[in-house]
Amino acid sequence: MLETSTYGDISVAKEVCYVGDNETKVFVYNVDGLLIDCGPQSREKEFTEWFKTQNINQVALTHNHEDHSGNAAWIQKNLNVPVYLHPMAIPYAHEEGMYPKYRQEMWGYRHIFDPMPMPEVLKTGRYTFEVLDTPGHAIYHNCFYERSEGWLFTGDLYLGTHLLVCFFEENIRQTIDTIERLLKLDFDTVFCAHAGVIENGKVRLEKKLNNLKTLQEQVVHMRRQGMTDREIDNEINGFELDITSISGGEWSPYNIIRTV
Ligand SMILES: [Zn+2]
Repeated sequence: MLETSTYGDISVAKEVCYVGDNETKVFVYNVDGLLIDCGPQSREKEFTEWFKTQNINQVALTHNHEDHSGNAAWIQKNLNVPVYLHPMAIPYAHEEGMYPKYRQEMWGYRHIFDPMPMPEVLKTGRYTFEVLDTPGHAIYHNCFYERSEGWLFTGDLYLGTHLLVCFFEENIRQTIDTIERLLKLDFDTVFCAHAGVIENGKVRLEKKLNNLKTLQEQVVHMRRQGMTDREIDNEINGFELDITSISGGEWSPYNIIRTV
């Protein structure tokens, strides 16, 4: 069931999606007519009912993953508004979403859509968002920064301060570089696509960075001692989560070790 709330004048919609016993929350934001991400197709009915109650003038997708872009085809068909995506990700949007069954079960089916290249700046009546290139979770990933409000919409860059698993496409070294770059900016509130609104978000991102760098030092040290990444993973993590087997390894602690 879609839950809605507001943060100042921002409308927030939240859904929960499941595969097996694993649940993931999804947050979609409408900031002064700018919709940031559009939710998975498995919740098309819920999200599109909400879209109809909202004044939406434009849509910006942080990245192409199906939990963020799943309703873009519906939006293009039903609302006559531009949908923006990182220019390098556009060719993927032109193909039907091809991904394993567990993701189809959780996120539904992402249909072809035809986004416009993300501009450098997104303007609404009241706000100006700088579009930042923020690779890590995905190669083509954008964050949206409202400097005067101190807001940072982070897509899937944050997720939490301590990662147990990461996605096979993620590159943790890139995530570290990106967070270091973002921390030079002045902001307080992070709007995460899976953790919601985080006040003091800069502190939380710093904490995530510190955790990743501590892990990185540990892994580099162990590699120098001649250990393989598999051996390091067994020693540091030594556990397997449900999601690793459900996803056939797409989500695993090893993916963190391998790319840190
Ligand atoms: Zn993602």
